[in-house]
Amino acid sequence: MKSVTVAAETPYPVLIGNGSLDSLEKVLADGGGAPKKILLITDDTVHRLYGEFVKERLETISPVEVFVVQSGEAAKSFEQYYAILTYALEKGLDRKSMVAALGGGVVGDLAGFAAATFMRGIPFVQIPTTLLAHDSAVGGKTAINHPKGKNMIGAFYQPKAVFFEPQFLASLPAAEMRSGMAEVIKHAMIADASFLSWLKKDLSAVMNPNEDQLVRMITEGIKIKADIVSQDEKETGVRAYLNFGHTLGHAIEAALGYGRITHGDAVAAGMLFAVWLSEKELGADLSFTKLKTWFEEIGFPAAVPEELTSEILMNFMLADKKTASGKVNMVLLKEIGTPVIHSYLPERLQALLEEFRKE
Ligand code: NAD
Ligand code: MG
Repeated sequence: MKSVTVAAETPYPVLIGNGSLDSLEKVLADGGGAPKKILLITDDTVHRLYGEFVKERLETISPVEVFVVQSGEAAKSFEQYYAILTYALEKGLDRKSMVAALGGGVVGDLAGFAAATFMRGIPFVQIPTTLLAHDSAVGGKTAINHPKGKNMIGAFYQPKAVFFEPQFLASLPAAEMRSGMAEVIKHAMIADASFLSWLKKDLSAVMNPNEDQLVRMITEGIKIKADIVSQDEKETGVRAYLNFGHTLGHAIEAALGYGRITHGDAVAAGMLFAVWLSEKELGADLSFTKLKTWFEEIGFPAAVPEELTSEILMNFMLADKKTASGKVNMVLLKEIGTPVIHSYLPERLQALLEEFRKE
């Protein structure tokens, strides 16, 4: 079993390995004892696969109520959020109760926000079931979407603990696996050159990791994220480095319409642009061409979707909630493991994007 501590204001453990859930009782005991009730929140796909298994484990600790949302991004809505709160009230949950999120980033964000706001905040734990959730389950960002924008309503709210059972990833579709892999690669690129070399060494490990490889990817990725979050819990400084590849990535996702491309595929395109920019603007030596070939081998889309003009993408980048004062911040790399923030005037960045796409 691997264990990473997130040194947030209240530190919490992330346990990675099959059987991690067996530690739940002990972790809760360290944090003040068993909750009065547990509200297990999951989506229908995950519920079918692992709902019973997890419920049984939770029931050894406290009575469990289950709330199932439809799988997909649409669950991060006011309607589902409201329905969860109503259900929690009807089932008699109180401030001594706990929420358990079983699923990918969608369930984690939704359940986390419900926990953050129900009776001004009750404890919650994360049980991630996607590779991408190595990212989303750590760091304490919780949110639902507004029709006018993704993640527009939320809270910083840390879980009490995260339990990662790699066995749950066996059923994950390949596209979802690849989506999570983009964030693993991102973590390596912004913080750890030797981890990146290890990932690059064996294509089959990235395409189809065995359990040891998976545990290593999850653990290293979480360590990097946890380290950055510990330095900057509320995103006023270095946490912005986690946005590597995301300025353009988010714009691609939003411009295509959510659900048309996975987050990871969009971020992969964004990372390639950021690497290209780093070489051009900072003179960094990041072997762009080799990296691009590697991304293509993994199956990431080779280029920014053609149907999106650079102007449209620029408008989405400007609309991003992280855009500061009319300038667009890009995370670039001086070298692998050394990110820097570079601000661009929109016209200049659009011209560079256009040039990148012509290469
Ligand atoms: P997801 O939760 O929608 O899961 C992807 C799909 O895989 C869903 O259809 C789900 O039902 C299915 N699934 C989940 N686990 C499975 C399993 N073990 N076997 C088979 N199918 C399984 O998506 P995601 O990619 O995990 O997360 C994306 C969400 O995470 C977005 O809403 C994004 O905003 C959010 N996010 C949040 C943070 C954060 O810091 N809070 C960070 C990154 C992403
Ligand atoms: Mg991301």
